[in-house]
Amino acid sequence: MKSEELDVIFKEVRCKKKFNEPMRNYASFRIGGNADLLIFPEDTDDLRNVLYMCRDKKIPLFILGFGTNLLIKDGGIRGVVVSLNEGFREIRIADDEMITAGAGAGLQTLVSFALKNELSGIEFSVGIPGSIGGALIMNAGTRDGEMKDIVKSVKIMTDDGEIKVLKREDIGFSYRHSDFPTGSVVLEADLILRKGNGRDIKKKMELLISDRKSKQPLSSYSAGSVFKNPSNDFAGRLIESTGLKGFSVGDAVVSEMHTNFIVNRGNATACDVLKLIEIVKERVFTKEGISLEEEIKIVGEDTHSMQ
Ligand SMILES: Cc1cc2nc3c(=O)[nH]c(=O)nc-3n(C[C@H](O)[C@H](O)[C@H](O)COP(=O)(O)OP(=O)(O)OC[C@H]3O[C@@H](n4cnc5c(N)ncnc54)[C@H](O)[C@@H]3O)c2cc1C
Repeated sequence: MKSEELDVIFKEVRCKKKFNEPMRNYASFRIGGNADLLIFPEDTDDLRNVLYMCRDKKIPLFILGFGTNLLIKDGGIRGVVVSLNEGFREIRIADDEMITAGAGAGLQTLVSFALKNELSGIEFSVGIPGSIGGALIMNAGTRDGEMKDIVKSVKIMTDDGEIKVLKREDIGFSYRHSDFPTGSVVLEADLILRKGNGRDIKKKMELLISDRKSKQPLSSYSAGSVFKNPSNDFAGRLIESTGLKGFSVGDAVVSEMHTNFIVNRGNATACDVLKLIEIVKERVFTKEGISLEEEIKIVGEDTHSMQ
């Protein structure tokens, strides 16, 4: 949609707005075309107004976290992209062993907050980039734990602007997956931790960070693991067995350090990454008979569908 049309439609919504905004600046892959409108609601009233406008005018809506699990296509995102990074960032102690964390806060900010308050249980997530909202949607984690292990309840706004609190058992969490109602926005979560010893928590976190540093290409542009691990196997092992380590399409490369990561050497396009993904899937299927499933979310439009 044209910026002028969107400007008129959203003029009542007073929060920060950016028209025709390059999404590569909001994605850890550093890939992606422009969003028609990127909007930063500061509170639930702003957010509800945006949802109403989008519903009434039939404008597509996408909720952005920190963009660390996204491949945004080269044609960008039509309609409205909402970021909760301006408001929705509060993290507070809600009860002795419970933290309430806003969806727009960083997961690593929460990790530091838990450490400072000597609360244990979230150490598994140290080093996972992204926001609380994204971590809940993805049920982010490692083999040491995942978000569902610490969630008590999650507050959401449904696509018709209603605020609801969902209990953990109603969210349908599974491996890198959740079942929030379609079109809903995660607002905040109550997380249950337990009293711990600050020194022990810190030590555990340092070990996990140094393990991560030794295994993942953390200084390169990427979106983390591209594929989910199939049951009883590792996507990285399967890819390595095909000999594709270091294989590239344009500037998109199968990481030498961690074969389940694709890294952007600098000028990769989404098209390069998508071609590489298809090659990897085809080779793994031919050699191992296993269909890999993407963990990253692929969003937006191809360049030929740009208006
Ligand atoms: C170097 C690196 C290492 C990583 N390591 C791990 C790891 O060990 N384990 C792991 O699980 N992941 C890992 N990841 C992937 C990624 O960090 C996680 O999936 C993270 O939780 C995504 O959060 P985000 O805020 O960036 O979400 P985004 O990538 O912005 O979005 C992910 C999805 O969540 C939706 N979403 C985000 N916020 C909201 C909201 N408030 N309401 C509704 N929908 C929302 C988006 O629409 C999208 O569908 C890694 C990524 C990188 C780059």
